[in-house]
Amino acid sequence: MGSTVLISKTKLIVLCVSGAVICSVVGIACWFGRVPGSTSSNASKSTQNREDFLPGTAPWLNLHLPAYTVPRHYDLVLYPDFYGTNSVFYGNVTIEIDIKQATWYLLVHIKDLNVKVKSVTNKLTKSSYGVSDQWEYDPNQFYVVKTKAVIEESATVLLELQFDGSLSNGIVGFYKAFYANNTKAMATSKFEPVDARKAFPCFDEPNLKATFTTTLIHKPDFTALSNMPVENAFQRPDQLNQTRFQKSVPMSTYLACFIVCKCTYKEKILSPSQKKFRVYAVEGSEDQIDYALDFGANVTEYFETYFGLEYPLPKMDMIAIPDFVSGAMEHWGLITYRETNLLYKEGVSSPSNKQRIAEVVAHELAHQWFGNIVTMDWWDDLWLNEGFATFMAYVGTDKFEPEMEVFSQFASIEAHTVMPEDSVASSHPIIVPVKRPEDISAVFDAISYNKGASVIRMLEAFIGAEIFGDGLKAYLKRYQYDNAKTYQLWESIGQHAKEWDIEVIMDTWTKQSGYPLITVAYDENTNNITASQMLCKDTAETIDWPTSIFDYKWEVPLHYITNSGGSDSTFPWIHHNSSTVEFVSPVDLKQAGNWLKFNKNNTGYYKVRYPQAWWEKLGTLLKNDIEALDAQDRAGLVYDAITLPPYGLMDYSVAFNFLNYLENEMHYVPWLSVRTNLFTIRDLLNDNSKWDRFVERLVKNTYDSLAWKEGGSHTDKLLKGSITRIACGHEYMECLNAANSKFTQWVNDPVNHPLEVTERYEVLTYGMKSITEEQWDTVWSRYSSEPVATAKTDMRRGLARTSNEVLINRYLSYALDKNKVADQDLPRVISYLAANSVARPIVWNWAKQRYTELRDRLGIDNRYFGRLVPGIASHFTTNEMLEEVEGFYALHPNAGAGKRAREQSIEAIKQAIGWKQRYENQVNDWLENNV
Ligand SMILES: [Zn+2]
Repeated sequence: MGSTVLISKTKLIVLCVSGAVICSVVGIACWFGRVPGSTSSNASKSTQNREDFLPGTAPWLNLHLPAYTVPRHYDLVLYPDFYGTNSVFYGNVTIEIDIKQATWYLLVHIKDLNVKVKSVTNKLTKSSYGVSDQWEYDPNQFYVVKTKAVIEESATVLLELQFDGSLSNGIVGFYKAFYANNTKAMATSKFEPVDARKAFPCFDEPNLKATFTTTLIHKPDFTALSNMPVENAFQRPDQLNQTRFQKSVPMSTYLACFIVCKCTYKEKILSPSQKKFRVYAVEGSEDQIDYALDFGANVTEYFETYFGLEYPLPKMDMIAIPDFVSGAMEHWGLITYRETNLLYKEGVSSPSNKQRIAEVVAHELAHQWFGNIVTMDWWDDLWLNEGFATFMAYVGTDKFEPEMEVFSQFASIEAHTVMPEDSVASSHPIIVPVKRPEDISAVFDAISYNKGASVIRMLEAFIGAEIFGDGLKAYLKRYQYDNAKTYQLWESIGQHAKEWDIEVIMDTWTKQSGYPLITVAYDENTNNITASQMLCKDTAETIDWPTSIFDYKWEVPLHYITNSGGSDSTFPWIHHNSSTVEFVSPVDLKQAGNWLKFNKNNTGYYKVRYPQAWWEKLGTLLKNDIEALDAQDRAGLVYDAITLPPYGLMDYSVAFNFLNYLENEMHYVPWLSVRTNLFTIRDLLNDNSKWDRFVERLVKNTYDSLAWKEGGSHTDKLLKGSITRIACGHEYMECLNAANSKFTQWVNDPVNHPLEVTERYEVLTYGMKSITEEQWDTVWSRYSSEPVATAKTDMRRGLARTSNEVLINRYLSYALDKNKVADQDLPRVISYLAANSVARPIVWNWAKQRYTELRDRLGIDNRYFGRLVPGIASHFTTNEMLEEVEGFYALHPNAGAGKRAREQSIEAIKQAIGWKQRYENQVNDWLENNV
């Protein structure tokens, strides 16, 4: 039995005396006789049935915690000992639990913790139930406590547990984050989705909300932060500080956060609530926090009005963490960010850095309502958190940074990015059943974020912003401090939008994968338009898509714009139970100057295939009068034009003839929507010299008027970068020479030739291709000492551009050295190198050889690890490499959080092979005749 491994009382006393500091931490960890954080528990680990239960009746055999226990409150004490070379933590937690049905068994989640029960008592009577057994059930990450006396129905028990763990199991859970070239460290945490169990025993499911009272023990010259403000703090006899925080509102475990650091902050007072709003960063970064402070405080005040609900906690802290696994995390009242997503320095950070910071800050603040006050019931509905926060980031940014024109970029950033992976059978519906931890981690993907946000924008567009806002307010009010499922959101919105059956409409978008292709036909005799829908996918795809409850038909709002105005409240729909809609065109399309374009403002999540004559008409229209359609409508057209031919849905000649209008395109977003696709074609062509000349012709006007020049609006600055990337990336010599000369000047004499921030990315990316080892080392040393994270990013990317094999291997060896490349940056370095065609085979072989090492460093359940190898593989375009990739996956069958990413990479290689067979000649022929 589990209790047999507990150490003797005598040994306990000896340990307590020798470890006086530790033991005085409310007795934490005295009972441990070995190094904290080793993965085995003091109690025995078991994968077996503990007793002769009927199959399926032992509660620890279920993936979910038993429904008969409901946590109400955590009283949690944590002592992270990360000082010097130490890297452990000790804890004690008392969990108040309501018992709904008589039982002997209490289950909590744990992972990589050493745990021991201290007591199980009745809260009311104070009587002890005793403990007859305790063990870890590893397959489901449970710690099971069996009591001696039965716990009666309706009792409230206090379960007290002692535990310890390691702070160096990667950068999730409770961990030690290094900075200042590994000379300094802090203790911090990141739990979503299922890593709270790595920091303390808990009921680690999002719908098991409870209140928290947290106490952090730390050295006096460090600051302790948690979700709530400090209630009291004092220095203990052992010279450590004990900081206790106020009791929280009920919250899910994944939102808890604990930080001990040497940090500084700046503060604003929110109006009208008078609550404190602070931005923290490690010492030395004070000069980079003003932007996030001003913008964040404004957005918080605005969201209080927008959601009709005051931000509920007494304070809001946002903090930049030097080693952070994701972009940011919405811990309630203590939002943590990767430094590049919070710290802005005027003159050093670029306009795109600024926009990214605004969007991430607004996203995380939106979560304080959407996600934190009302939480998805289970991870199936993750999109409710992420799709909404992604959408609301645009609302918040547009309010305070209107010159960023973020809504005009919306479809280019969200829909156009996710559509490629949503066009193949390995995609998944927005609402997706997930159970295992690795599947939960994997669902934090573009479908939940980008597609989720896109269908929300489509909903807002057809019901109107006001009704949409009223529906959200009703939803938040109704489910506050509780959990909700997707249909409950549709119910709340539906009550304000009675004209539509919101649930049916939105189910067609959230419960099946893919999206519709709208094919338009026109009858000149009747001036009738027929629009029909079908699943948008490669016509040559041989893999069957899974069956769909809607048979891959959608409810499609067909907003349109014509030369005499756009559709407003009345517009045609294609319904999911009929494939087509026919209607009379509002303008006579036989007339030369009349035209119609669907998907007004690009708010619909679909593509449109027009008759060839319409493409020609729209192309001519834009050549003569580019302002006839606004930038986002033009972006929609170029995106549909360039992405339909590879699926066999349109001829490349029609698309390329239309793209000729780009010679006049001077707005950022159409270029943003076409950029990646230009590079995709380039990478697929064996001989891309003619393609380069074609693209050079398209970009020349815009390049000549913008590249390497100062000034302009925010989007002009973004366009300048984008157009330079396209030009240099297509071997436009004038561009490459300029980038190389600017790089050489900077590398030789940075004082007199600093990099202009709006050009830094391009100079470092395209100026570093053929540099010397000495120059590379100079950039590396500047990278290592650069204090501004946003500037470091461009250098990190530039370092990966070299075509020198010695330098590529040097960079790979640096990537494995934690002192040189932080955990958070490792996946990026690999993906930058994989994008370099010279480095790609080297990176591939390196990743294969180092696979287990990479897995151990990043973790098999880590989605960034899961996507790492597939990310390299998806660049391949030959049968030979397809076989090699499949062989490698077969060799390592446990894909962890990378299962879907692997499938997607296989499909991507097959698509590339198919493209070369079917379209390479077609494209070359067109280029031959037209360039
Ligand atoms: Zn989010």
